[in-house]
Amino acid sequence: MNKAESQQVADHLELCGYQATDMLHKANLVVLNTCVVRQSAEGKVLGMLGYLKGMKRQKSDLSILVTGCFVDSDIKQLEKSFPHVDLFFKPSDYIGLLNWAEKQAIVVPEGIVCLHPRQSTKVSAFIPIIQGCNNFCSYCIVPYRRGRERSRPIDEVVCEVTGLAGRGAKEVTLLGQNVNSYGHDLAAPSNLSDLLTALNDIFGLARIRFLTNHPKDMSQQLIQTIASLDKVCKHINLPLQAGNDDVLKAMRRGYTAEQYRQLVNNIRKYIPDVALSTDIIVGFPDESDEQFEQTLAMLEEILFDTVHVATYSPRSSTAAAREYEDNIPPGIKKERLYKVEEMQTKIAAAINSRLVGKTVEVLVEGKKGDKWYGRTRSNKLVFFESGDDCLGRLVYVTIIKTSPWALQA
Ligand code: SAM
Ligand code: SF4
Repeated sequence: MNKAESQQVADHLELCGYQATDMLHKANLVVLNTCVVRQSAEGKVLGMLGYLKGMKRQKSDLSILVTGCFVDSDIKQLEKSFPHVDLFFKPSDYIGLLNWAEKQAIVVPEGIVCLHPRQSTKVSAFIPIIQGCNNFCSYCIVPYRRGRERSRPIDEVVCEVTGLAGRGAKEVTLLGQNVNSYGHDLAAPSNLSDLLTALNDIFGLARIRFLTNHPKDMSQQLIQTIASLDKVCKHINLPLQAGNDDVLKAMRRGYTAEQYRQLVNNIRKYIPDVALSTDIIVGFPDESDEQFEQTLAMLEEILFDTVHVATYSPRSSTAAAREYEDNIPPGIKKERLYKVEEMQTKIAAAINSRLVGKTVEVLVEGKKGDKWYGRTRSNKLVFFESGDDCLGRLVYVTIIKTSPWALQA
C-alpha cells in the first residue's frame, strides 16, 4: 500500500512538472510517506524528520511534505511539533497535495485527481481498491489513521487496469487492508468476486493478485471465484496472527483457531495448489509460553509458504494499549520471533525443494547482476540466466536449485 501510494504521489507531482531523483540531496521537494503500524516504524519517521530538518538548514528552499499514517487527525499539533514541514496531508489526499502545489505557483493540470493519473508503465502495478478498515483489531492503529472502509467503484478500477494493460502491464495486485470486504459500501453493492471476474476479461493482462484478506470475510463465493478464474493467481495472504483462542479473542480477530483451520481446509479443497502466506504477532500481552506454542503448532500444521512475523508493539489509542499491560519482556518477544522464523525457514525450505525439476511460469520484473528475476504465479522469487531481453515477458523455466527464500532456474 505504501509503495502504491508513493507512486501515486510521484505521478501527481510529475504531472505538475516535477522530476524524480534518486539523490536526496539533489531534491528541492521531499515527500516522506510514513508507516506507524509499529513503534519501530514511527521511530524511523522521527529519525528521518530530524535528518530533513538538518537538510533544510543547509538548503532553505527545500520543501518537505509528510503523508501516510504518521499524519493523524491533529494536524495543527503536528505543524507545531515539526515547523520545518511545509505540508502534512492524509494518505491519498491528493487534493490537499495539489492545493499546496498551486499555492507554490506550480501549474496543476485540471482533472488529474479524478483521472488516477498516469501510472508508470511497469510490468506489475499496485492498485488500491479499498481504503481504511472497519475491524478494529485491538492492537491495530490502522482504522484510527486511515478511517472506515471506502471502496472504489468497479468501473473505475476496470478502467484503470485496462489502461495499464494497454501500456504493457501484465500483472496487477489489488490492495486494501481488508481487500476481501471490497464493495459492500458502494452505491451498487458488489464484492471482490465481481471485481476479479470483471478484471479477468481484460485483454493483455496475465495475472491478478490481491492482498490482504481477513479470514472472516473469505466467503465461499470468493474461494470458488479464485479457483475458477485463469488469471487470478492461486496465492492467498490470510493473516492468522495467533494460534490460541484466548489470544485471538483479546486481539478481537473474530475467529477461533479451529475456524481458521476449517477455512484453510476449505480453500485447499477448492484450490489444491494454493500458496498461502500469513501474518503473526508474537508477545501479545499475557501470551504464555503454552499459548505461543499453539501458534507454532498451527504453523507446523498448516505449512504456509510465507510467514510475516512481528513482535507486539503497543500503539496509542488502540484498545490493547488501553486495556492491557505490555508485559512480555522484549527478550522473550525476540526469542518467540526467532522461533517462528526458524520454524518457517525449515517449512519453506521443504516446500520449495519440491519444485526442483518442475517448469514454472515466471513474469520477469528485472535484472540483478547477470540474472533475470521475477515471480511465479505462487509468488515465489526466481532467478535465471538468459542472453535474451526478458523484461516484462512471461517465460517458462525449470527449477534447478531452491532455498527457503528464492529459486534458481
Ligand atoms: N488487515 C490485515 C489483517 O487483517 O491482518 C493486516 C494489515 S496490518 C496493517 C499488517 C500487519 O501488521 C498485521 O497483520 C499485523 O501482523 C501487524 N501489526 C499490526 N499492528 C501491530 C502491532 N501493534 N504490533 C505488531 N504488529 C502489528
Ligand atoms: Fe488492522 Fe488488519 Fe485488523 Fe484492520 S483487519 S484493524 S488493518 S489488523
